[in-house]
Amino acid sequence: MVTDNYIPFEIGKTKHIALVAHDGKKQDIVEWCDKNKDILKEHFLCGTGTTARLISEKTGLPVRAYNSGPLGGDQQIGAKIVEGVVDFVVFLWDPLEAQPHDPDVKALLRIAAVYDVPIANNIATADFMLNSKFMNEPYQRRVENFDKIVKDRVNKMK
Ligand code: PGA
Repeated sequence: MVTDNYIPFEIGKTKHIALVAHDGKKQDIVEWCDKNKDILKEHFLCGTGTTARLISEKTGLPVRAYNSGPLGGDQQIGAKIVEGVVDFVVFLWDPLEAQPHDPDVKALLRIAAVYDVPIANNIATADFMLNSKFMNEPYQRRVENFDKIVKDRVNKMK
């Protein structure tokens, strides 16, 4: 059913992919990127500082580096999701290790859910996503109509 509660945002044929991995998962993400180099090179890549650097060095793929995760890199990527600049995420967080920036980790997972951005949190999901038919065509994600939400909230508080 079409309602005005959601608005469609297009993920283009060329994806804007953010790559993030905690230390215990860095080798996994580098190997995954290397294995999938031919697909990934068709898209725009970015990532948190250390992850981005490691991927670039090992695979030769251009990866725009934001700050390191514990220094705000996760938040920068979250902000790019809000701005519509990042629309596909591979985020290998480590379920066996506590992180100093745990609130930022949760914030990134949350904002990806809010903006209906595909986000893989393990290699199997990343494989399924990268081999989806939607990698070769645009996809309409469904985002909350914030304009309507703000208007409704303002009206309620008048
Ligand atoms: P890093 O950040 O790529 O700079 O290590 C990842 C993270 O811990 O969020």
